[in-house]
Amino acid sequence: MNDCIFCRIVAGELPSEEVASTERTFAFRDVKPALPVHVLVVPREHIVSADTVAPEHADLLAEMMDTAQRVARSEGLTDRGYRLVFNVGEDAQNSVAHLHMHLVGGRPMEWPPG
Ligand code: AMP
Repeated sequence: MNDCIFCRIVAGELPSEEVASTERTFAFRDVKPALPVHVLVVPREHIVSADTVAPEHADLLAEMMDTAQRVARSEGLTDRGYRLVFNVGEDAQNSVAHLHMHLVGGRPMEWPPG
């Protein structure tokens, strides 16, 4: 997957600001933060999107959640709260075809999103 930007970030071929790393996951700051804290949690393996996640990915998804919880703690978000988002497809403005969880926070947010 040499043409996948997040595969290349995970491989260290493209720069990123690492926030956390586990055997199967990697977390780094979004290059265009939407909120004061905006971190992307990705699997090291290439999965296209939340729409292609399957039962065999259960352990990997749990590891992504664990990484997100650790990032939220290290960023000081746990008490005030934060949001975890998977965008899928055009209507959700999904732009990178490698599964990623947005972890955003650092100020009050609106719901529902626009
Ligand atoms: P999505 O719209 O859900 O596909 O989110 C993709 C996210 O990746 C966007 O928030 C982008 O700002 C972010 N992004 C794209 N390229 C990079 C990069 N090289 N480093 C960090 N974040 C990136």
